[in-house]
Amino acid sequence: MSVTVCLTFDFDAMSSWIYGYRTKSPNALSRGEFGAVGARRLIDLLRLRNIRGTWFVPGHSAEAFPDIMAALVSGGHEIGHHGYCHEDPSHMERAEEIFVLERGIDVLRSMTGVAPVGYRTPSGSFSENSLALLLEHGFAYDSSMMADDFTPYYCRVGDRVAVDEPFVFGECVDIVEVPFAWHLDDHPFFEHTRSRRGINPGLADPNRVYEVWRGEFDYLYQRLGEGVYTLTLHPQVIGRGHSLLMLERLLDDIAGHSNVVFRTMGDYVAEWRGENPLATWKSPATGP
Ligand SMILES: [Zn+2]
Repeated sequence: MSVTVCLTFDFDAMSSWIYGYRTKSPNALSRGEFGAVGARRLIDLLRLRNIRGTWFVPGHSAEAFPDIMAALVSGGHEIGHHGYCHEDPSHMERAEEIFVLERGIDVLRSMTGVAPVGYRTPSGSFSENSLALLLEHGFAYDSSMMADDFTPYYCRVGDRVAVDEPFVFGECVDIVEVPFAWHLDDHPFFEHTRSRRGINPGLADPNRVYEVWRGEFDYLYQRLGEGVYTLTLHPQVIGRGHSLLMLERLLDDIAGHSNVVFRTMGDYVAEWRGENPLATWKSPATGP
């Protein structure tokens, strides 16, 4: 029995402001630009602790900060796909979604030498085409969904969803889901935002966030004993002093446990897939 910890970093930089908030305001963009400051702090933190992280990087961020990409590659970190300019796939036609997916792959491949195998959807929402497109484009895993918390599972395509008939489960496909959770994401807790979409208060007490993140880890470690603990972190958010010190405290506490390993998501998924091949896997959703 062991617990794997995956530290994941969504390096949105300016892209999420440009696409998500539809703004070119220098002030808003500067909040994204701080992501580069945060990224450099995090790269140092990971190097000092000998941890390899998984960085989901929009192509737009990669092109804006090639020095950070070079540092990530030379540091042995995994680079995953996160759109080209943080586009929300749920709002796209299929052809546009393919264009963005391939543009992001091309940028990351040109800068890292390999095509990404991991994906996290910007904005947290797939279209009805997204999973099939990830499969067609050679992705091994996604980390955007929430049907479990610490246990990976195979994604499905073809669910039938209607208000006037029972839910019909689709077919499992060879994309591993490493569950994501909003309460293990720094952005809703810390980042204060106002837009047409509403207000996120943010500005949370880091001690409160520590309690939530530590509570999730303790449940996994003490009650389940096996699984993957995934933190979703944004350099422009967690890179601020107060939240970064909280993260360091949490990592100290987690590292003090036996049978806990820090790994990239890609490495973890490769092992999990080997131990749980799709051909013999039984979905917890539909039962044996
Ligand atoms: Zn993002």
